Amino acid sequence: MNKEIICTVCPRGCHIDVCGDANSVASLEGYGCKRGIEYATNEYLNPVRILTTIVKIDGVDNDLLPVRSNKPISKDKLFECMDVIRNVSAKLPVKIGDVIVENICGTDVNIVATKALG
Ligand code: SF4
Repeated sequence: MNKEIICTVCPRGCHIDVCGDANSVASLEGYGCKRGIEYATNEYLNPVRILTTIVKIDGVDNDLLPVRSNKPISKDKLFECMDVIRNVSAKLPVKIGDVIVENICGTDVNIVATKALG
C-alpha cells in the first residue's frame, strides 16, 4: 500500500511517499532529512492527534469549557473519544490541567481543561 504523507515537522513540508503494509514500512522517498523518516513512519503505521474540543459545564447553559488530550490519541480512536466527551459535563470550579475525563476509552490519555473557570 502506497501513501503520500506531508511532513509537518518543519515548514519545508516534504511530500514523502511511503510504501509498506499494515505492520511495516518497506520504503520511503522524498524526505528532506531523517526527522521525516520518523514522522512518516509513525504517521503511516499509527497516526495520532492531540484532541482539542469543548465540553458542557454542569448547570451552565451559556458557556463551554475548552479541553484537550494530555497526549496524542490514535486517529482510530478519535470518534469514540468524541462520543464520550459529548456526554460529559465539567463541574465548576475548574483549574487549567484539571482532568475532566480520565483514561478516555482505555487509551491511557486524559482529557484536561485548558481554561480556568468558576
Ligand atoms: S523531512 Fe525534514 S526537511 Fe522535510 S519537512 Fe520533514 S523535517 Fe522538514
